[in-house]
Amino acid sequence: MKIYFDSIGCRLNQAEIESLASQFRRAGHSVTGSAEGADLVIINTCAVTAAAASDSREKSRQAYHAGAKQIVLTGCWATLEPAEALNLPGVMRVVTNARKSELVSDLLEEAQSEYDAEPVAREPLPGIHRRTRAFIKAQDGCDNFCTFCVTRIARGQGVSVPMQQVIRDVELVLQGGAKEIVLSGVHLGSWGNDLKNGTHLRDLIQAILDETSIERVRLSSVEPWDLERSFFELWQDSRMCPHIHFPLQSGSAAVLKRMGRNTTPDKYRALVELARDAIPNLALTTDIIVGFPMENDEEFGESLEFVREMEFAGGHVFKYSAREGTAAARLSGRVHGKIAGCRSRSMRGILQESAEQYARGTVGRQVDVLWESTSGLDSRGWRMHGLSDNYLKVSGFAPENRWNCIDRVKVISFEAGQLEGEIIQE
Ligand code: SF4
Repeated sequence: MKIYFDSIGCRLNQAEIESLASQFRRAGHSVTGSAEGADLVIINTCAVTAAAASDSREKSRQAYHAGAKQIVLTGCWATLEPAEALNLPGVMRVVTNARKSELVSDLLEEAQSEYDAEPVAREPLPGIHRRTRAFIKAQDGCDNFCTFCVTRIARGQGVSVPMQQVIRDVELVLQGGAKEIVLSGVHLGSWGNDLKNGTHLRDLIQAILDETSIERVRLSSVEPWDLERSFFELWQDSRMCPHIHFPLQSGSAAVLKRMGRNTTPDKYRALVELARDAIPNLALTTDIIVGFPMENDEEFGESLEFVREMEFAGGHVFKYSAREGTAAARLSGRVHGKIAGCRSRSMRGILQESAEQYARGTVGRQVDVLWESTSGLDSRGWRMHGLSDNYLKVSGFAPENRWNCIDRVKVISFEAGQLEGEIIQE
């Protein structure tokens, strides 16, 4: 079968779709870069915002109109709205999150062990998924009760992928040629809690560093709590990327309380100080929600000021959208769409300023770049584009195509939002 894979939303969805693609490849099927003419299309859907749910439906319709013979929907939106998902044209099956790990064996009607044993050459998923980094799922679900969050409803309680299984997955992608892993989970920081053996995310990462030869380890997103000073000692190993994503959601203590977050601006600030003390030149990124119910001008102002103070290296801003079944959807005091739009623009502006400042600060420094694509060859060499260890997009020329190689690069300029670097020949 020719199968087209697509996913939207978080890195966990990305990790899962890569794992599904890899399992189908091992079972002898091929992966195609477009839904056109595909025998099967598998889409990992998302429900984190109303827009993500709408995109999920749209992707399914697009696949149908492109001529996909059969469509299978999985992921959070399909889990929350299975009847609606099944009603979309061309959808032959909905696989809920709880059944996702058996999706391949269910569809192929084969035992999983028949195709899950051997590594396959690691190829980026064709089409939009041209990343060289391997997303590794280490955790699923969440035991927190953030009042806006539909993900925890769609994904259920927190479950850790056992350490040896994560190590095995890292080894498989290593044998397939991956240079960087992105450790992913819904609530990655809670890894180990359900195992009841006293292990913590720190132990999992240490084991990956000790037992595998992976060249770079990046963490997807870590909730800004449950972490101690010793966690950041992991970065004494230079294979740990100096990049952490701590979702803040709001810089107002009152809004954070209404959101049910386990942190306050003061605690967040203290954690960031610990991280920045331990990790030189740390790229700190975040997520922010604006227009949460009852967010008034004063609270938004506090949030804006706090975000300015944190000097993030980047981040995403979401306008709050009520998700059915969440506690926040029942709150009164909806913020008008126009006001939320205005706040979103202000917040994006602050984040863009600090992101540019961070990027500009790397000019003259050396970073390690994993080259992810090339836009061709000219008299200066191969035009390469990649991602630095501190999560910056960098372009440069190389004498040969360096796709999926890591080079030490001196950043020489930052113009029009673009970092240019020169490879340091060793
Ligand atoms: S920590 Fe909060 S936002 Fe994150 S998955 Fe859990 S409930 Fe949702």
